Amino acid sequence: MQIYRSSLLRFADDGQALYDEDGLLAVAPDDRGQQRVVAAGSWQALQAQFTGQPGAEVTHLPGRILAPGFIDLHIHYPQTDVIGAPAAGLLPWLEKYTFPHESAFCERAHADSVAEFFLDELQRNGVTTALAFATSHPGSVDALMGASQARGMRMITGKVLQDRHSPDGVRDQTEQSLIDTETLIQRWHGVDRLGYAITPRFAPTSTHEQLRGAGELAARYADVWIQSHVAENLDEVRWVAELFPKARSYLSVYDDFGLMRERAVYAHCIHLDDEDRALMRERSTAAAVSPTSNLFLGSGFFDFARADAAQFLYGLASDVGGGMSFSPFRTMQAAYVAGREGQTKQGLSLSPGNLWWQHTAGAARALGLAGQVGNLQPGCEADFVVINPACTPLLERKTRQAESLDELLFAMIILGDDRLIERTVVSQAK
Ligand SMILES: [Zn+2]
Repeated sequence: MQIYRSSLLRFADDGQALYDEDGLLAVAPDDRGQQRVVAAGSWQALQAQFTGQPGAEVTHLPGRILAPGFIDLHIHYPQTDVIGAPAAGLLPWLEKYTFPHESAFCERAHADSVAEFFLDELQRNGVTTALAFATSHPGSVDALMGASQARGMRMITGKVLQDRHSPDGVRDQTEQSLIDTETLIQRWHGVDRLGYAITPRFAPTSTHEQLRGAGELAARYADVWIQSHVAENLDEVRWVAELFPKARSYLSVYDDFGLMRERAVYAHCIHLDDEDRALMRERSTAAAVSPTSNLFLGSGFFDFARADAAQFLYGLASDVGGGMSFSPFRTMQAAYVAGREGQTKQGLSLSPGNLWWQHTAGAARALGLAGQVGNLQPGCEADFVVINPACTPLLERKTRQAESLDELLFAMIILGDDRLIERTVVSQAK
């Protein structure tokens, strides 16, 4: 058993942040070799019970905070090199940068090398689980799955489906794309910590036949994830209305094809109406809120207040390469700013503890993985980060003066980036 003594952040079932200034985290392998949290709480209350056990090893980390590994609900690993590309908006950005970069993933060696860099970058930023787009090339999935498996990471990805309105090099063939998807599900889903996501790029780039086939696979493989984009940009919304004239809304296109259910996650969800929001809740479908990407592409803002009123699931995401940073701190910071839009009441738009929850335990709940990742309660898989709150002179000064947990977390959210993450520990199954 491995015991850590340090400050400790975790979350109650209702999402409330729990903090022990002098905390204890005990981790041990289960019968399958998966490292899990055995105990978490105050050092005072737990040390007598756990430090005396045979083989217990104590690591003392003074001045550090142990916190759950972050979960990125929406990111494109093949867009690692697209981050920071200048373009006028979503559709020109896709055409000029994204599609040409993604077409290079037909080469397996290229996919392997980007996958390794991408995972290094996630871990450097404290992200231990992601729901990631690959490209339309099946080998791009094999590359990320294989690299994640070797690191013991919990990773969910899928081959992009896009059989129309896409240039040569990324466009796939309807029938073959569905055969490839099923082959990849059987090869990877549920292997070690890996999961598969059925991945239509977005409604405009799939034919009705491809969306229908995706929905049939989603029904046949009920514990596989679904990921796509919806209602990001007004030009895109108009385009979908032309392509699917019978659909009530953009979101309902996916519902009409059986692509809204538990474990379905849609990026953006900006231009929804109340009927869409009710449908999100009814189908237990989640939104991946991507504020740095929405700011970068000028898409608009996710409406947190209406999402809460409708009570549907959501969590935070970087959406790299449309997003501006791999760092969860930059995403939480942007979510805070975006949450101010349309705000009527006084005070903080989103509380620091809630922002952090949205990128950890809340994101896990959106994925249907509550109690497995994104938290450090007993039974959780032991993915965590070691945070150094004094990693820059200003952070050292600000966090030292914090008089409450809100002040401590908010200083890190507003001033923080990858420098806060001293170490990322992945609960590798052996
Ligand atoms: Zn995206």
